[in-house]
Amino acid sequence: MKISRWQGVINHYAEYLPVTDKTPVISLCEGNTPLIRVKNFVDAIGGDFELYLKYEGLNPTCSFKDRGMTMAVSKAKERGAEVVICASTGNTSASAAAYAARAKMKCVVLLPNGKIALGKMAQSLMYGATTIAIEGNFDEALRIVRELGETGKVEVVNSINPVRIEGQKTASFEICDQLDRAPDFHFLPVGNAGNITAYWRGYQEYFKSKKIDRLPRMFGFQAAGAAPIVDGAPVANPNTVATAIRIGNPASWTGATNALKESNGHIGKVTDDEILAAYTLIARTEGIFVEPASAAPLAGLIRAVKQGWIPRGSVVTAIMTGHGLKDPDCAIQTSGFAPVVVPAEKAAVMKVIGI
Ligand SMILES: *Cc1c(COP(=O)(O)O)cnc(C)c1O
Repeated sequence: MKISRWQGVINHYAEYLPVTDKTPVISLCEGNTPLIRVKNFVDAIGGDFELYLKYEGLNPTCSFKDRGMTMAVSKAKERGAEVVICASTGNTSASAAAYAARAKMKCVVLLPNGKIALGKMAQSLMYGATTIAIEGNFDEALRIVRELGETGKVEVVNSINPVRIEGQKTASFEICDQLDRAPDFHFLPVGNAGNITAYWRGYQEYFKSKKIDRLPRMFGFQAAGAAPIVDGAPVANPNTVATAIRIGNPASWTGATNALKESNGHIGKVTDDEILAAYTLIARTEGIFVEPASAAPLAGLIRAVKQGWIPRGSVVTAIMTGHGLKDPDCAIQTSGFAPVVVPAEKAAVMKVIGI
């Protein structure tokens, strides 16, 4: 009997992934996320092109990290590993913890103390990971994880693990399958730079397989306080409201620069104010709530439109990497509204509405 229900990215794209019949597939049915056309937003920023948002916040743990994690945990299981470990700005740890639980494996996560969005912390604790907050930043946590990986006692599931990138490239496949073509421009945030590396690989593989007849230009955006690739040097103390891209020394730096060069792309930086403005605008104009890091490419797009870089009629995609509910503190602070408290009477409510 043919089973038609979606069973995750490994099952769907196995021919493009380093798996065999013997790989135990650990999946939460990740992937198959919506590609949403957003005309109100394009009108609001004065553009004249088709913009589609790949809403990766609708993955099982609410970020794109699940695409890479299904691969990393499945391969770790195949090798007989018992403990997976990662450094994280929050979403990798949430994803690792969930997939490890499903694989009956132990999970250890190292987080920068005090810099993790509330929702992400809740996830890692609920899924039962050993959660360690280090007095340092992400880059320092990753250094420790790399050193622990060398002991051979734990399996590192950060994107320095090459199968993470393999899993993440499936989002490019989905975009092309959903659009029935490749976009002209692909916008995304850049932190550790695994995702820009993965997306570019995915597009190239689909091009080689003749599934698409063109390649997009890759447009990446970093936060101004954490822009090592833009500035050409590691940043010792990265800082931004977009905690998912608060990274000073990206592991996939070369992957990013290759993608930019080969695709005739662009990498830029956007300020926290620009990020928060785009974050609010996409929620208010389209009803799409993303976490701050996901708004960085939208802030970048607003700049690109002002510069006249996006020709009329272009097809543009942008990745909404994580769900807005990941970071409720930021949302409540940024929204600029608080609920109005009134007596439990119709007249009082009418007064607030202005009717
Ligand atoms: C991990 C993450 C990023 C950054 O992706 P990289 O692969 O590290 O460049 C951006 N946004 C969100 C929500 C993330 O979780």
